[in-house]
Amino acid sequence: MSHGRPGDLILMGPPGVGKGTQARLLVDRNGWVQLATGDIFRDHLRRKTPLGELAASYMYKGSYVPDDVTVGMVRERIAEIPRETRVMFDGFPRTVAQAEALDEILAKQGRAIGRVILLDVPRDELLDRLASRATCSICQAVYSTGHPPKAPGICDRCGGAVVATARPDDSPDVVRKRLEVYSDQTEPVVRFYDARGLVRRVDGVGDVEDVIKRLLEAAA
Ligand code: ADP
Ligand code: ZN
Repeated sequence: MSHGRPGDLILMGPPGVGKGTQARLLVDRNGWVQLATGDIFRDHLRRKTPLGELAASYMYKGSYVPDDVTVGMVRERIAEIPRETRVMFDGFPRTVAQAEALDEILAKQGRAIGRVILLDVPRDELLDRLASRATCSICQAVYSTGHPPKAPGICDRCGGAVVATARPDDSPDVVRKRLEVYSDQTEPVVRFYDARGLVRRVDGVGDVEDVIKRLLEAAA
């Protein structure tokens, strides 16, 4: 790793583990930048760009957007982030091919992965969370029956209204498919980084603030 520059972070974990919520809080508090491929795809979808329409056709089925598309998008986005700024990748890389491409992209920019954090939640709780997802209408923070907002219907983070919006890809069939795709394609990515000794496992069950504390320790 280059002098004085903390390595970039990758936050991994199965769908429903709460990566998005935690990543947003962590980056906000630490001045890092979150690079969440799922969020970028959803943003394209809202703006009805060709990339959004392409991505949607995969997302609604619970499958992954093709690697070349995803990698191209990440390459562009990284180029806009100052090298001194620590990036937290969220939802990327999800395949070994993406992980290999990321190594190359980062090396060219004098960056490197410092840590890979794996958020861990038992499968039953994952299914429950995915079935009961609610989202802040302003900041998009994600809540569920297991992790409700402190005041019912009000976002802890920004005070916005929390609405029960299961995403179109949260239907039970699609959820099952997403979990399957995760074990087939993304668990090998964990092994890829494990082989380099970069992975720290963090218990994702409990109060959001407790999980954040564990994540911060793992990122240090
Ligand atoms: P989750 O809540 O399942 O972690 P995300 O918001 O990260 O979901 O992503 C939603 C969907 O966007 C994925 O199911 C997939 O179709 C697509 N997607 C996001 N990131 C990637 C990626 N790195 N590679 C391929 N597809 C992706
Ligand atoms: Zn909010």
